[in-house]
Amino acid sequence: MSHDTNYPDTQLLIDGVWRAGTGGLTIPVVNPATEATIGTVARATREDLDAALAAAEKGFEVWRATSAYERSKIMRRAAALLRDRKAAIARLMTVEQGKPLAQSLGETAGAADTIEWFAEEGRRAYGRIVPARGANVSQSIIKLPVGPVAAFSPWNFPINQAVRKISAALSTGCSIIIKAPEETPASPAELVRAFMDAGVPNGVINLVFGVPAEISEYLIPHPTIQKISFTGSTAVGKNLAALAGQHMKRATMELGGHAPAIVFDDADMDNALAVLAAAKFRNAGQVCVSPTRFLVQEGSFDRFTEGFTRAAKALKVGNGLDEGVEMGPLANARRIDALEGFIADAVDKGAELKTGGRRIGNTGYFFEPTVLANVPLDAEVMNAEPFGPIAIINPFGSLDEAITESNRLPYGLASYAFTASDRTGYELGQRIKAGMTTINHNGLALPEVPFGGIQDSGYGSEGGSEALEPYLITKLVTHAH
Ligand code: NAD
Repeated sequence: MSHDTNYPDTQLLIDGVWRAGTGGLTIPVVNPATEATIGTVARATREDLDAALAAAEKGFEVWRATSAYERSKIMRRAAALLRDRKAAIARLMTVEQGKPLAQSLGETAGAADTIEWFAEEGRRAYGRIVPARGANVSQSIIKLPVGPVAAFSPWNFPINQAVRKISAALSTGCSIIIKAPEETPASPAELVRAFMDAGVPNGVINLVFGVPAEISEYLIPHPTIQKISFTGSTAVGKNLAALAGQHMKRATMELGGHAPAIVFDDADMDNALAVLAAAKFRNAGQVCVSPTRFLVQEGSFDRFTEGFTRAAKALKVGNGLDEGVEMGPLANARRIDALEGFIADAVDKGAELKTGGRRIGNTGYFFEPTVLANVPLDAEVMNAEPFGPIAIINPFGSLDEAITESNRLPYGLASYAFTASDRTGYELGQRIKAGMTTINHNGLALPEVPFGGIQDSGYGSEGGSEALEPYLITKLVTHAH
């Protein structure tokens, strides 16, 4: 397939107008498969942020007065436009982010599903009536949109992470300023364009890029902003949550994880290998719910480790635009340094390197799918999120041992398990400290089910009916007639 792409220079969208930043500054965008600079993204100034805030304020008044029925129709039109345009958008995503084209297509089509689901759920943001104590008194509990939202979405899923926030805001009647990722700006800009072309009024969605800390430090405390949503690292999330707290702003934090994947001796081993290898190497492991600590029961440890190592070696790594490529490059050079550090430290502390461990070539951020076995608990990679194509495989004896290791870290986002025993599955569901447990398949991240973590993985949900709540005020209206 041709590697040529007309990659655009991405602009800001403020009050319905696509434009450069007022300072005229831009940030270069690099293709991680070639390291070529393919375009630029506009950098917002304080003046641009003030304009976005004023637009969001105005957009909110228009959108809150638009019925849920009408909002839903516009959103469903946006979903249809996204489906029509998915081939072109997916190409942009692959050249800016690196993932294989099939994954970019899946992400874009999946975003259309997400928009449709939120479009429908927004029509069901019901309140309730509570019987009153007094005669001739009514007590209505009504749901109102919270107001303009400031959202920050990362580069690993340029559309998927943005669409959850935009859809939740729009379905509840909120306006939004979204700071999308500077490293992968063009595909989220196309997502926003689909909404605008579908008829979302000016000012309801505003898209900005720039210096992340400058933008978050200005928007979060700003009186116009009523709600924050952030997806990214735990370290940054804690800072932003603290700032939100100081200003009494609601916040949803979707942060890092270190997912355990527990494989019991009674599991269907071929199924466990197939599901977990696909989940581990998807998006080159740069996924917050990526399985990371593979805990395999002693009787199956050798078989699983051999099978998983074979699967890792067989993966076709290359430019995501090329036919048959299963894993693209890492999204940026920072990840290579981080992964090399994790692997050297683990091997130094006694881990066995079963396969991989090195950068591939010296152009493009390609990295070998890597398997480490028998990794000691004090290795850094056992404690910090690798966010890359590294699987750690360690043995365990009993169910209790597996649960103790699963719950050892302060993270609590996703967890995976494979077992033929209903009783074991039940125990895991009850006892693993995580926002999500998926057993015998990978059933995570559908729009209709909750998506979110606990502890250092953050709070709030970006899926299921729970995802609407943070964008809604619950208000009592009690009325003596
Ligand atoms: P990083 O911590 O610098 O950035 C993570 C994300 O937060 C980026 O999208 C960045 O633009 C944004 N960000 C950073 N500082 C910010 C600020 N002050 N205000 C607002 N946004 C800010 O690290 P990185 O090198 O981009 O990614 C490394 C780590 O981030 C990974 O190891 C992983 O743990 C985490 N991460 C998690 C997710 C996720 O899906 N939860 C996505 C991307 C990165």
